[in-house]
Amino acid sequence: MSNLLIVEDDELLRDALSAQLTQAGHTLLSAADGEKAQTLLESNRFDGVILDLGLPKVSGMEVLRWIRRRLPALPVLVLTARDGVDDRVQGLNAGADDYLTKPFSMAELQARLGAMLRRARLPAFGGSLELTADSHQRLRVDATLPQAWLGDEALELTQREWALLSLLVTHAGQVVSREDVLETWQSEPGDGAVVTNALEVYIHRLRRKLADSGLNIRNVRGLGYMLESAAP
Ligand code: CA
Repeated sequence: MSNLLIVEDDELLRDALSAQLTQAGHTLLSAADGEKAQTLLESNRFDGVILDLGLPKVSGMEVLRWIRRRLPALPVLVLTARDGVDDRVQGLNAGADDYLTKPFSMAELQARLGAMLRRARLPAFGGSLELTADSHQRLRVDATLPQAWLGDEALELTQREWALLSLLVTHAGQVVSREDVLETWQSEPGDGAVVTNALEVYIHRLRRKLADSGLNIRNVRGLGYMLESAAP
């Protein structure tokens, strides 16, 4: 099972989460504020974090940004008391892998947490990123050269298509925002509108190239794009 960090200042909820997840077989540590969370993250190895956004000392959003700088691959499930779309978008943009709005059921938390931890175990081997669709079709993307293969067949990709595909494969099952893509493409700030239009063109091209792969690039309205197994 997994080693988890729970960051929540509400003692009742923190204890309930701890009891529930311990019973589910996880090992865990908990923190009641953002500062303690950072201390624990510096001295322990975790498989995943459950992070409340409203925290004393150091806010949850700050902790999230801090995690993304230092531990980019660590899965984070954000808990938010407010159900505003702004919070959700902000959280996802800051690098949360998933979120839950309070109040939530323990069953839902366990399901979302389980899915997040499974996604984090998608293999990334040595010099290439690999992804196997539900159709068992295998996509492999070279991590350093603009090359990719679908099964044994090489895909013809431009530098930008490859950079976009690498980003989507690295974050398979998670939303990749337009900002993430712009950063990857190293665009100038003034390029915003031009690149946003270009992005749609590139997504369209990648979809065509992945047409028989069993993988789909989903448009997550207002948030970005997500690579996932195509519906059967
Ligand atoms: Ca709180």
